[in-house]
Amino acid sequence: MSRGAGTGVGGGGRRGGTVLIENAYIAPVTGEEIPRGYIRIDGDRITALGPGPAPAMSATQGVEWIDGSGCLATPGLVNTHHHLYQWASQGLAQDAALFDWLVALYPVWAAMDAEVVHGAAGAGLGFLALSGCTTSSDHHYVFPKGRGDLLAAEIEAAREVGVRFHPARGSMDRGRSAGGLPPDSVVERLDDILTATAEAIDAHHDPSFSSKLRIAVAPCSPFSVSADLMTEAAALARDKGVRLHTHLAETLDEEEHCLAQLGLRPVGYLERLGWLGPDVWVAHAVHLGDADIDVFAQTGTGSAHCPSSNGRLGAGVARVAEMLRRGAVVGLGVDGSASAELTSMSGEMRQALLLQRARYGPAALTTRQALEIATLGGARNLGREAEIGSLEPGKLADVALWRTDTPFASAVADPVAALVLGARQPPLARLLVGGETIVADDELRTVAQDELGRAGGAAHRRLMRLAGEQGLATAGEVGPPPGQM
Ligand SMILES: [Zn+2]
Repeated sequence: MSRGAGTGVGGGGRRGGTVLIENAYIAPVTGEEIPRGYIRIDGDRITALGPGPAPAMSATQGVEWIDGSGCLATPGLVNTHHHLYQWASQGLAQDAALFDWLVALYPVWAAMDAEVVHGAAGAGLGFLALSGCTTSSDHHYVFPKGRGDLLAAEIEAAREVGVRFHPARGSMDRGRSAGGLPPDSVVERLDDILTATAEAIDAHHDPSFSSKLRIAVAPCSPFSVSADLMTEAAALARDKGVRLHTHLAETLDEEEHCLAQLGLRPVGYLERLGWLGPDVWVAHAVHLGDADIDVFAQTGTGSAHCPSSNGRLGAGVARVAEMLRRGAVVGLGVDGSASAELTSMSGEMRQALLLQRARYGPAALTTRQALEIATLGGARNLGREAEIGSLEPGKLADVALWRTDTPFASAVADPVAALVLGARQPPLARLLVGGETIVADDELRTVAQDELGRAGGAAHRRLMRLAGEQGLATAGEVGPPPGQM
C-alpha cells in the first residue's frame, strides 16, 4: 500500500488495480456533498463512493491507498474549447478586438509546422492538467500546406500527457477573395477539407466508453467558412457519428458580418444550415437574445463559455446565468492561448463566476454552478455525460484532489469556495484519469514537466522564426510595444 495524497507515490502508468481515496471532502457534482468520505476505483471506473471509511476489503494487496485528509475531491475538469497551437503565439496583438487580432495573427499561424504544434500542444495540455483538467477538446483550423500532420502531432502530445483528448478537425474555406476574413493563403479547398476530416475520423476516433480520443468536425466560424462547407461538414459528422463544433456569436462585429453577408443573425444562420442539435456545441455564444437561448435549450445545442478570452478581446459577457436558467447546456473553455494567455481551468471557474456577478448581480452564479459547468457541463458539450463530469459509481475515474488544508486555505470554511473563489489555485494533490495518476503534488508524473514547458517556449521561438523567414509577418508587426521583445 502506498500512502499520502501525493508524496512518495510513483509516476504515471496504467495500474489497472484498485485505488482507494479516503477521508476526503467529496463534491461529486451530482448528489449530496460528503464532508468526509471515500471513493473506490477498480480499473478505470469508480465502483463505490460514500461517507466514512470504505467498507473493509478482503485483500489489500495491490491496493493503492490515498489519504485524502485535508483534500477536496471533485470530478476532473473538462475543457471544451481551445486552440493548442496558439501556445506558440501568446502575448501578441495585445490590444486588438477579434477581427483585427485574427488579421494580425493569421500570417503568423500560416508558418506553423508539426514541430511547433507538438511543442505547443504538450505545454498547453500539461498546463491544463496542472489546473485539474482531465479531458480537453481542441479546435485546430489552420492547416498550411506541406507542414506535416498537425493533427497527429497534437494527438501524440495528448497521449504523452495522458489526458482524454477531443481534437476537432477544424477548417476554413472562405478567404478574403470570397468575402471572408482570413487571407486566401490559409484557407483550404472544400473537397480537401472533407477528405482530410473523414481520414482523421477513420484514423483516430474511438467511440468506446473509456475512450481517450474522439474526433469532432469543426468548420471555424461564419466569417471564414462557406455555407456549403457547413452543410457538408454536418452531413459527414452525422454519417460518421461524431460531434460538431464551431465558433458562434463571439462579437458584435460577427453579427454585423452575418447580417450584411448572409442576411441572418448567427443563430438563425446555424438553424438554416441544420447546425442546431444535441450533437453540436459552439464556442462563446456571447451575443444571444432570449429567443436564441430558448432555441439552444430546446435543441440541446451546447456552448463553451470562455470568460477570460471574451474579456481579453473585449468581446462581451455571455448570458450564462440566463442560459442555465432556461435549461441550455453550458460548459467552460479556456480558448486558445493567443487570446487567453496562461489561462487555467481552475481559474476559469472563478472568472465565470465573477463576470456573471459583475454583470448580473451576486446571485447570478453560485460556486457549485461554476464547478458544475466546469465538469458536467463540459461532459455534456462533448456528449460524454454518461462517462465523465461527475463522481458516480460506473463512471470513469477522472478525479481531481485539491489540497485545501494549506496554512492560508485552511481559513476558508467551505472547500468548494476555496477552490472556486480563490485567485490562487489550491495545490493539486492528485489528478487521476481513468484511475491513472497524471499529477501528484502539483507535478506532472507522466512527462518531465520542465522539459514540456521548455518545449512550449521553443515552439514559440520556432514559430516566430518561421513566420519571419516566410516574410509573412515579423514579431514587430503583431508584438508588444517596441523594446519589450
Ligand atoms: Zn476559439
